[in-house]
This record gives sequence, C-alpha cells and structure tokens, in this order.
Amino acid sequence: MLLWRFRWMMYGGRLPSSKNVSVRIRRNGVDIMNELRVMSVMAHQDDFEFEAAGLFLQLRQYYGDRVKLKILTTSRGGSGHYLHDIETTAQIREKEAQASAAIVGAEYENLTQLDGSHIPAQVFCDRNMLGGLWNAIRAFAPDYVIAPPISTNPLAGIHIDHQHTAEAVRLVAYQLGVPNAYPTMNGKRLLRFKLPIILNCIDNYAKEPIWHFRVNVDAFRKQKMRMLRCHKSQIEEWLPFVHNLDKAKIPPWSAEEWKKQTEMHHIQRNQLCGFESEQWQEYFAITAWGGGGWNESTHSGQIKKDFPFAEWK
Ligand SMILES: [Zn+2]
Repeated sequence: MLLWRFRWMMYGGRLPSSKNVSVRIRRNGVDIMNELRVMSVMAHQDDFEFEAAGLFLQLRQYYGDRVKLKILTTSRGGSGHYLHDIETTAQIREKEAQASAAIVGAEYENLTQLDGSHIPAQVFCDRNMLGGLWNAIRAFAPDYVIAPPISTNPLAGIHIDHQHTAEAVRLVAYQLGVPNAYPTMNGKRLLRFKLPIILNCIDNYAKEPIWHFRVNVDAFRKQKMRMLRCHKSQIEEWLPFVHNLDKAKIPPWSAEEWKKQTEMHHIQRNQLCGFESEQWQEYFAITAWGGGGWNESTHSGQIKKDFPFAEWK
C-alpha cells in the first residue's frame, strides 16, 4: 500500500497500471477512468510508426489499460503505390494501419471530413477538412496530440500531406475551444472543451531538429519493428520504389534490408538531434498551439508528470 502511495505521488496522481483505483470522471463529454488520452494525428498510415510508435509502446507499458491511444490519419494514402489503383491502395492501407494499431492497443481512424467524405490523397486545409479534424479531436478528448511539425525552412523538401496535416492541427488548435467553430458531427455539442497539449514529432521531410524531450524506446525495438512491418505495401513496396526512381527495376526490400534501413533511420534521427548513438529514441517538441499565452514551460511540468520516462534537453 505504501509503495502504491509513493508511486501515486511520484507520478502525479496517475497510477501506472490497472490495479485498484477506479475514478470515473466526465471531461469533454467523455467518461474517463482516471486515464491518460493520447492521440496521434499524422498524414499517412506509417508516419506514426516511424516517429511516435515507441512513445505509445512506452505509454502502454507504463500505464497499462489506464491510457487510451488513438491514431488518426488525414489521408487515405491512396496515391502511394505504383501498381494498385487509388481505391485498392487505400483499402490495403486501412487494414495495415489497423493491424499495427492493434499491437499497441490503439484505435485507428481515417479522418472523416465535415461532408462525411475521406481524403483519398492530397490533404488541403479547407473548411471541410479542418471541420472534420476539429470534430475528431473533440470527440476523442485527448490530453495530448502528437502532430508533425510545420517546416520553416524554405529550402527543405516537403510532402504536401505532411505539411498540410501539420498546418491543419495548428489551424484548428485554438478553435478546439470554440463550440460554434464548426457543426458538431456526432453526439451533443460541447460547450466547454479542455484543450490538449500539442506536441510535434520530427518530420522526415523537414528534418529540423526542434525538440524539448526525447523518449528512449530501445526496449521496444521488436514491437516497433513489428508495427512498421504491418505496413508492407508502404515499407516493402512503395518506399523502395519512390526512393529509387532513377533505377529501372527495384526488388522489394527483404526483412534484412528493412531492418538495416530502420536502424539507419534511428541513427540519423539521433545525429540530427545531436547524439551519436545507435539507441532508438523518439524526439518531441512542445508547441503553444491552441493557447495564446502558452509556451514550453507552461506545459513541461505536466508532461514531466505524465511522461516520467522522458529525458529532457
Ligand atoms: Zn508520410
């Protein structure tokens, strides 16, 4: 009992596993059982796995069933294949994303826009898309949203879907607290909504080393790799194709080649962020998105409580 009390105090009142406390709280229209709610909003079905799956695995291990995890993609990813048509690719992507999400016990969803449609490919920040995103975030009521960063370097190569997904999260962030910003799509309109803390991960296109804390996910290599390898149509077929457009024929990457590429991805992330290390780390920056008066220090105290395993810059 004493140990539990100690951990309770240490970890800011949230128990790291599902033992014996059941506190029903209603917040943002959602019943929460003293749980942490974390949502990833990324463009494509494999983006989350590269940059934040380790954090989700760490959260699942640390909190057990006291964390609710959600993976939202803005694009159906339909254009990302060289043999299949858009609809076939989108259906494959959906199944792959669900299989990966199941490994960490997360819910997967592709964004539904205000008019009820999905985005087959090419994400744009119009009212239809922003309203759908506003609804999706309010419906899940996250404590944290993990989103890609907005590239600030005019010389950086960008991906239209990554850049616009980042901008969309930033654009809706303040209005998440505005009950009439968009029509509420499902359920009752909420009057008051507690804004989430919005974190940026690193982006593969922007490659800007903007981060405040990192999470050592080396212990989750196997599971993170398993999640990544669920995305066969991307990592074994599409990425080798699109990264080798100058070659006539590209064999699909073998398991061995894929392992090498993933190791290299993490080494490069470390180098980008100032470390020479082969350990797998994920890097996150604290945004002020949503709150005019917020800054890094406004949120860092709460993040230290909720992510006690984080290492700070
Ligand atoms: Zn992507």
